[in-house]
This record gives sequence, C-alpha cells and structure tokens, in this order.
Amino acid sequence: MPTFEFWNDADSPVHPASAPDYLPRPQLRELQLHRLQVTVARAYERVPLFQQRLIARGVRPPQIRTLEDIALLPFSVKSDLRETYPFGLFASPMSDIVRLHASSGTTGKPIVVAYTAHDLDVWTSVIVRSLAAAGVRRGDILQNCYGYGLFTGGLGLHAGAEAMGATVIPISGGNTDRQIMVMKDFGVTVVCSTPSYFLHLVDEARQQGVDLHALKLRIGVFGAEPWTEGMRQRIQGLADIRAQDIYGLSEIIGPGVACECQCQSGPHIFEDHFYPEIIDPDTGQVLPDGATGELVLTTLSKEAMPMIRYRTRDISRLVATPCACGRTIRRLERITARSDDMLIIRGVNVYPSQIETALLSVEGVLPHYQIVLTREADLDQIEVQVEVTSANFSDEVKSLEALQKRIAGAIERITNIHARVRLVEPNTLKRSEGKAKRIVDQRKMG
Ligand SMILES: [Zn+2]
Repeated sequence: MPTFEFWNDADSPVHPASAPDYLPRPQLRELQLHRLQVTVARAYERVPLFQQRLIARGVRPPQIRTLEDIALLPFSVKSDLRETYPFGLFASPMSDIVRLHASSGTTGKPIVVAYTAHDLDVWTSVIVRSLAAAGVRRGDILQNCYGYGLFTGGLGLHAGAEAMGATVIPISGGNTDRQIMVMKDFGVTVVCSTPSYFLHLVDEARQQGVDLHALKLRIGVFGAEPWTEGMRQRIQGLADIRAQDIYGLSEIIGPGVACECQCQSGPHIFEDHFYPEIIDPDTGQVLPDGATGELVLTTLSKEAMPMIRYRTRDISRLVATPCACGRTIRRLERITARSDDMLIIRGVNVYPSQIETALLSVEGVLPHYQIVLTREADLDQIEVQVEVTSANFSDEVKSLEALQKRIAGAIERITNIHARVRLVEPNTLKRSEGKAKRIVDQRKMG
C-alpha cells in the first residue's frame, strides 16, 4: 500500500498519462474530428503546397464535417518533404519552432522536421504512454541505444522516458563493449534499440562471457526497422526479456506513434494525436478495419509541421477488436513489410520479412541473415546467406546439406520462390549498429 508521503502517480498500474488510451470510441471520434478540422484549417492557411492542392481539388476546410470527409483531402508523400526542403512545409514561424530534426536521405537532401514547444510536449506524452504500455515503470533503468542527434530516435525517446520517471542512460548507438559494461554494471532493466542492434549486443555479451539471463534486463523496446514475430521469439529466448514493438516515423513525430501493450498483439496507435487510415496502395481507396493495405497517417495536434494523409509505405491493417489490456485505441497489425522493400524475383513479389519468418522457423538457424540478388543469364537469382550454430557448422557435410535443404524448403513454402541457401559460421555477416541492411541487390537494371 503506497503511503501518502511516498505516493507517486507513476507507480499506478495504469499510468495517468495513459488515460486517453481508454477513451470511449464516440468521445475519441469527437476529439479526432475537432482536431482534424483545426489541423486542416491551419495547414490550409499556412502551408502553400497544401493550399494549392486543396484548391486544385475544389475542396475548402469547412467541407470537413465528419471524420470520413478526410477522404476528400489529398495524400502527401515523402517527396513533398524533399521538394519543399528545408522549411517549405512549416506551419509555424521560426520564432515558435524550438527543435529541428532531419533524416539522412539515401539520395540527395535530407528531410527536415520541426517542433514547437507544444509539439515536444505531445511527443513526450506519447512516449510516456508507449513506455507505460510496454510495461516500463518509474525506477526502471533505461539504456537508450537509439542514435542521438538529428535522428528522432534518441532525443525523442529520451524526454518521454525521463518524464515517466525512468532513469535514462543516453548512451546512443555504437561502442558495443561499453554498452555491455553499462548494461551489467548499472543494472539496466530496459533497453531501447533496433532489434538487429540488440541481437548484436546479445552476441557480443556471449563472447565476453556475460550471461544475459543473469542480468536485471526485463524489457526491450524495439523499433525503427521491420521485424517479425519469429524474431521476437528468438530475442525473448536469448535474453530472457519481453520484446515490445514501438512504431513511429520522423515525418509524423518520431518514435511514439504506436506501441505494443503487454498483450503483444500489435502496437496501439495513439489515435487522439495520429489519425490512421489503411488504403489500397494502387487506387488510394480507403479500406475498412481488418483489410491489409498501406498505412496513411494524419497528425491531429502537430503545430509546426502538420502532415495530412501521409503515405507511410508501411503495409499493415487496423485491428479494432478489443484488446485484453482494455485500451480502446486501435492496434496496427505488426508492421513487417514496407512497400519500398518489396522484391520482385522472377515476377514473384517477396518481402524480406517472409524470408526472415521462414529462416527462423528452422532449428539451428541464427537470427542473422542477408539476401543477395544477382542476375545470371537474364534470370534473377536469390541467395540467402544465413548463420547457423557452431554445433551445426562443425557437423558433417551430409547434415549441413540436409539443413540447407530444410531452409530452402521453408523459404519456398512461404514465398513460392526457390532460393540458394549459403550457410555461414556464426559472426560472419556484418553487424549493424543502427538499422540492419538485409538486402544486397547486385542486379544490373535494363
Ligand atoms: Zn492492448
């Protein structure tokens, strides 16, 4: 029983910041509609690109009378941010903007995103709600391995973790030896990173003779790259933790758009700030709850850079069935694929996550792999390089060949393509300190 003197809201099993997670749907929808109307009016008045597009469609802000009217509005896409670089989509004067972040684009200029003080407060609140949902509590010691700096991951998560009362270690990415030392010596209970970087830490710890099962670590909050349920099971087994999925993107706010509760049944979207839609990526048609398509997000409270119907390229579906945790906000089905990542191999569509699922279903396979695409005699060839346990690797040739066949069979069952499988020793494939590079495409175009 907490006493009056030591009472703290953050110790409640339901964190007070999580209250909007449990709003009755009709009231949530009223709030969403009000915020949508304000956001559309603001963007129309202050962002020329948005105003031009609305005028071109013959639409004016007062026409948004219901949430369904959002379908009248134009989509926005990543190239809009590049083409208006650096500040063209800002809806606040620079005097009201207190923070800029940028993502390193793979081509050309980065995209720049902005926050007012109010936007930072919202960001902090959705991270508190994310961490609370994931099971993090006041008193947890949280090692934040997301990159600090222009990337939204590090600083975004940082403020919310402090606000919820966790002890934050702002270690950022890299320097794996130091990460393991800190994890052990500081009694870290929560790690935040990409799933692939955490696997790297697991490997290094093992090599240094550090038994992760003996540490205090209990929760991993993993995001910034797609990962599968199979990968979750592997990580939980390797490190004796609960591995929770957090989702976000810089264009919308950064991490904290959605996060899994302890039921681990897909991330709950903080719908009072981010309005989700699923569309058919080819026609742009809005699809009903439960249908799979591209996730589109509209910010409902962003001041500095409102995003209207932003096409995320992430493939998912909205789950409206009640969650055992009691939250009323909808869930996303775990995002395991981005439409940008889709590979077309000999005319067949394949996602890297399907290959990951196939690999991790085979015993003896380690969760480290790379997909290499080549073209020979005008035919696409796919080779999957995967690490297997040293016990397996030292086996005789016959059993290695059998393992290879089992893996190829699993890939073929899930993807309908025949892949070459190359087994490699543990620690052969290059490890990533941020987002994993799963695909090497050596096909010459044309
Ligand atoms: Zn839940």
